[in-house]
Amino acid sequence: MRSGPARHGDGRRPRPVRDEFEHPGHVAEKPAVPVNIPKMDTPFSKLGLCDALAFTVQEKGYTEPTPIQVQAIPLILEGKDVIGSAQTGTGKTAAFALPIIQRLAGHGAMRCLILEPTRELALQVEEAFHKYAQFTDLRVTIVYGGVGYGKQTEDLRRGMDILAATPGRLLDHLEQRNCSLDKINILVLDEVDRMLDMGFLPDVRRIVQKCPADRQTLFFTATLPPEIEHLASWALRNPSKVEIGRKHSAADTISHCFYPVVASQKFDLLQLLLERTDFKSVLIFCRTRMGADRIAARLVQKGHSVGVMHSDRNQRERVEALDSFKSGKIEVLVATDIAARGLDIRGISHVINYDVPENAEDYVHRIGRTGRAHHTGEAFTLVTEDDVRDARSIERFIGASVERKKVEGFPYVYSALFDQKILDDAVPKTSTSRLHRGARR
Ligand code: AMP
Repeated sequence: MRSGPARHGDGRRPRPVRDEFEHPGHVAEKPAVPVNIPKMDTPFSKLGLCDALAFTVQEKGYTEPTPIQVQAIPLILEGKDVIGSAQTGTGKTAAFALPIIQRLAGHGAMRCLILEPTRELALQVEEAFHKYAQFTDLRVTIVYGGVGYGKQTEDLRRGMDILAATPGRLLDHLEQRNCSLDKINILVLDEVDRMLDMGFLPDVRRIVQKCPADRQTLFFTATLPPEIEHLASWALRNPSKVEIGRKHSAADTISHCFYPVVASQKFDLLQLLLERTDFKSVLIFCRTRMGADRIAARLVQKGHSVGVMHSDRNQRERVEALDSFKSGKIEVLVATDIAARGLDIRGISHVINYDVPENAEDYVHRIGRTGRAHHTGEAFTLVTEDDVRDARSIERFIGASVERKKVEGFPYVYSALFDQKILDDAVPKTSTSRLHRGARR
């Protein structure tokens, strides 16, 4: 087993620092006694899903399939390759997990691989598969970097049908011959644009090459820049496209606004916004890891219960922060963009961008952490003089202007920010190429 420093020069990205914490993954949720599945006639069974799966989602409280589920489920059941893009929180995981479970039918070899850019997303997908596959004998396992190899190796050797993985760690296990991709007949490349951002493209290509050519490939990405289109045309055969909503828009369930403020008053305004807002749980985004640590420490001083999530935190700290936030033990999570994509945390009532995101596209992902699956949410963004052009780029990207608000009674220091003419004249920044963006956030 390789445990030395990360390799360089072989085209693979440096590995995250490993600690010995072994994340347990999720435990299969199989019923203790056999359940009699009734004959189902629901909107889900009409999509072609079998009684057991239609029953499972009914038990989870889903009454109507979401638009991406309506489009993708029949295509995937037919065995077609699919390129899917959908707004965040639209039920994408079930859109691929349910038909995959039906196609795999029963326990056999490792036949389905799902690649995810981050450990958190891989864990989320693993958990979803466990839930949706509860009335089957399918086995689901997960591998991801930054933790010990022991339990993952044991799990892989024990055998499974579905594997959720991050690319680097999967390649390590393949080198160690702990598993093989010889029998993969369904490959899911999820959050591909994020994988590209994180420098995973060479790893992803290596993994795709190791899968049999005769397979079904599902490809999910929020955007399709040329590099990704190229990867898709190489990895997929005759794909059907499934596109839901305008790619650039925020979900309709989110109301969002900008709060102009001078840089020196940002923290005070954040503090007042938290005081004045009736929030359940708040996700606060900062641009840098140091910035996130600093804001978290200041919020703790002010008496808030706070967790921090960014790429300098080890796996144990990240899992603990996320679990405490999900369970309501802490009310505020301060994060960098590592937490912006895909994470499905129920009940985030508010997202606050303490720093305006550098890329307009990240704005949509950040605020998409609230207002998920039919719930409503609010997103606030603090905009300083330095952020005016980024703020305009966001408006251009989403194709709408965002309301500027002031907090009543806040002792604002006057700035040109409050002069609408200056704001109107600001030229939006041209967006930075995705390939030039830093991977460690
Ligand atoms: P996803 O976009 O896959 O991250 O899913 C977002 C959330 O929507 C998850 O918590 C799912 O459990 C939930 N969800 C998925 N499909 C449905 C549905 N048809 N009805 C209600 N909730 C759903």
